[in-house]
Amino acid sequence: DYKGMSYEDTLKVRKTKLSPALMTYYKKPVMIHQGKMQYLFDNNGKRYLDLFAGIVTVSVGHCHPKVNAAATEQIKKLWHTTNIYLHPTIHEYAQQLTDKLPGDLKVVYFTNSGSESNDLALHMARLYTGVFDTVSLRNAYHGASPYLMGLTAMSTWRFNTPTGFGIHQVMNPDPYRGPWGGKNCRDSISQTDRDCDCNPDECKACDMYIDQLQDGLRFSMPKSKIGGFFAECIQGVGGTVQYPKDYLKRAYDLVHAQGGVCISDEVQTGFGRLGSHFWGFESNGIQPDIVTMAKGMGNGFPMGAVVTTPKVAEVMGTALHFNTFGGNPVACAVGSAVLDVIKEEKIQENCEELGSYFIKELVGLKSEFKCIGDVRGKGLMIGVEMVEDRESRLPLNGKAMADIWEDTKENGLLIGKGGYYGTTFRIKPPMCINKKDVDFSIEVLRNSIKKVMG
Ligand code: PMP
Repeated sequence: DYKGMSYEDTLKVRKTKLSPALMTYYKKPVMIHQGKMQYLFDNNGKRYLDLFAGIVTVSVGHCHPKVNAAATEQIKKLWHTTNIYLHPTIHEYAQQLTDKLPGDLKVVYFTNSGSESNDLALHMARLYTGVFDTVSLRNAYHGASPYLMGLTAMSTWRFNTPTGFGIHQVMNPDPYRGPWGGKNCRDSISQTDRDCDCNPDECKACDMYIDQLQDGLRFSMPKSKIGGFFAECIQGVGGTVQYPKDYLKRAYDLVHAQGGVCISDEVQTGFGRLGSHFWGFESNGIQPDIVTMAKGMGNGFPMGAVVTTPKVAEVMGTALHFNTFGGNPVACAVGSAVLDVIKEEKIQENCEELGSYFIKELVGLKSEFKCIGDVRGKGLMIGVEMVEDRESRLPLNGKAMADIWEDTKENGLLIGKGGYYGTTFRIKPPMCINKKDVDFSIEVLRNSIKKVMG
């Protein structure tokens, strides 16, 4: 039973006391009172299926009992000392986390968010290579700090201040919106949606985008040297954009050949979400030099990390580096429980199985509506791009998009929105959803699209 501040008072405080730059989902925002696994409950007790998981953050389920118990247990014993003393939790967790990472990725820096992790990774890449210039992809989101606003290549998230000096964006290898490519040449796609006539063996999209990257490196870098190359394996905020097959592999080779380091931003794609692999980079057959993570790592608890090789980590030895809350005992206890749950409850396998089923059902829905332009994704990281029609691929008009979205909410489904034009529905639920949840989602989406589009 909800006994807190009234809905009206909450709205009033939000309008007057909180940041005006804070976005609020829905015309009549939902006031969330409680969460249980894949479901959220509002102040009136109405249940919603949460397909957005606090922007891909709740990984194993809202208030998962085992994670809650681990946090409670730790809170009773010790909250904080900073890491100036030995405490087993951080060491046990560092061991457990690095066991999940391949190769030499064995040194952890704990942070409190994705932005902090990418800030640190950018700093490390520059120190290690001695080169300031850094590359990211257009349409990428890597964080909101003034430092990272340069890497984040979406105007929505950039203020008119000097940010990101020495950062260069290259063409986004987006096979749907970009000039080259089709569905068949996308990397690591669950291949259910074959409506493109391009032959993957003869497709030149990857060559063309790599050419653009090469060109970018040539014209903008001092003596063609590069510091770091940042990329997500599938763009999250950017609208579940998947690159042509082998793009990242070839990009990494190019960057390494020019003395740069590759940073895989796993803030959304890590911790089993893609199903086939624990990390997004593994699904691309690549080995980054630095990996950044946050969000799903703590199932909603604020925590993040940078993991790198001992060789890269060495450069951080020239000064002390300190983070008051990074790696605090409660965060580490939570992180450790999340890893246990992923294993014990076969969460990654669930992402693989349910993700394939979800994509298959969405592809079925696409055949019913011409306003669904593209269904893409992998595991439980799915995007549905809405268009005026499939031929023009013009983004669906804002009113129709908003009406469909509002209607899904009214019918108990919370779904994300994003992409270059804000016309991609983003489906990234807690990774514990089941088949019934998928069927419910498809039914709600079908009804809402039909109601709005006729
Ligand atoms: N990287 C990616 C891929 C993200 O999606 C986000 C957040 N949306 C961040 C970094 C920044 O994370 P945070 O909001 O925790 O700072």
